[in-house]
Amino acid sequence: MLLTITNTATPATDLGYLLHKNPARLQSFPLSFGEAHVFYPDASHERCTAALLLDVDPVGLVRNRRGPSGEGGTLDQYVNDRPYVASSFLSVAIARVLASALSGKSKGRPELTEVLLPLEARLSVLPCRGGEAFLRRLFEPLGYEVTTQPHELDGNFPEWGSSAYFTVTLKAVTRLRDLLTHIYVLVPVLDNDKHYWVGDDEVEKLLRHGSGWLATHPEREQITNRYLKHRRDLAREALARLVDEEAPDPDLTERVRNTEEEQIERPLNLNEQRINAVVAALKSCGAKRVVDLGCGEGKLLRTLLEDRVFDQIMGVDVSHRALEIAAERLHLDRLPARQRERINLIQGSLMYRDKRLSGFDAATVIEVIEHLDQARLAAFERVLFEFAKPKAIVITTPNVEYNVKFETLPAGKLRHKDHRFEWTRLQFQGWAQHQADQYGYNVRFLPVGVEDESVGSPTQMAIFIA
Ligand code: SAH
Repeated sequence: MLLTITNTATPATDLGYLLHKNPARLQSFPLSFGEAHVFYPDASHERCTAALLLDVDPVGLVRNRRGPSGEGGTLDQYVNDRPYVASSFLSVAIARVLASALSGKSKGRPELTEVLLPLEARLSVLPCRGGEAFLRRLFEPLGYEVTTQPHELDGNFPEWGSSAYFTVTLKAVTRLRDLLTHIYVLVPVLDNDKHYWVGDDEVEKLLRHGSGWLATHPEREQITNRYLKHRRDLAREALARLVDEEAPDPDLTERVRNTEEEQIERPLNLNEQRINAVVAALKSCGAKRVVDLGCGEGKLLRTLLEDRVFDQIMGVDVSHRALEIAAERLHLDRLPARQRERINLIQGSLMYRDKRLSGFDAATVIEVIEHLDQARLAAFERVLFEFAKPKAIVITTPNVEYNVKFETLPAGKLRHKDHRFEWTRLQFQGWAQHQADQYGYNVRFLPVGVEDESVGSPTQMAIFIA
């Protein structure tokens, strides 16, 4: 069983610091079911690959009763795939041998653990019960580009078809610890088995390793059921707690994902162009009192505050953490009284009718709609156009057609893991025109960022006037 992880960000050998394993050495670790070896087949400045080779001892499995129990303790115990495939044995090996990397620690270079790296993991043989489609449903929502190579059941009998085994590569720009965590949790899920008894502490383990991604994963129920070996009582408990976890802090992972999106868009300095375009639009319609819906960490608010034209500014976001950061960035606690009176931050959801949102000249909704489920978008439309009803509305959203121009963005991927959709120009304009017609606004569209002849501009903007 072989897992390799490749880093191509220079100096690529930084991977050694993150894994706590010296690229120049082969290291071996005894485990209860065999032995794990870590070595680097490639360790150059440009490209560094670490390999975790798992040597499962089939005789030891039987002797220690760690292998499959078998029907009545017969053949399965002796003839099975366990030594050759990625399974819960691999997860145990990762937790033992790469413990600090898995928990996001680096003794030598702690700052590295937060860095997003272009990483590629390759699992030599991965059993995928549920097939390739299920494999993709597990990893793609987490932002991985998944490549698979299926294996025939038996090369001598092609008519038997393909097996449940695949060679799989996972590619993403991500933190090493996230990659390891996803492999750690999802490999036994794909295998739909575990070599050990699953008890209460397995729920804790799942919640700990699932923190920040499992609660919003579309396959979270399947993942939980399979991870807990279909023990319904445990799965129920875990799922209930997952939802709890989700509620108080909707975007624990939001900041990391925002940085990813920024990195993809950075070469264009799109953020600045977007803010300038929005401010220009606000001025063109003479807005003085502005509410920024889904204000996040307050990038637009800061520009508005610096401009005296805007005399009443309110930021709204569902994320308490984002608002805290906004308050810090705007130095709200140090502003002179007259400035302080101009701005106000409130926590609120855009899904619910809220009196505090009415009475503004303009509302801005910058890079927010694509974070809302399509079903929830309908609620938001009413909140904004029917109830808050400002005189002007400025909405921006990514233009998905432009994604082919981002070199670091894999084909078919959205710019941010939390985006529920990204629209073409036609889709966005269709949606916006429909809102305008329904709620009595005129709408026009402007490109933001350099426009490409065929795919348009990176960001699209709609300006509604009542
Ligand atoms: N407008 C900001 C942030 C965009 S990120 C900017 O351009 O930088 C999207 C923001 O929408 C996040 O801060 C998120 O917390 C917020 N958001 C998502 N769903 C929301 C909801 N239902 N109610 C309020 N805010 C929401």
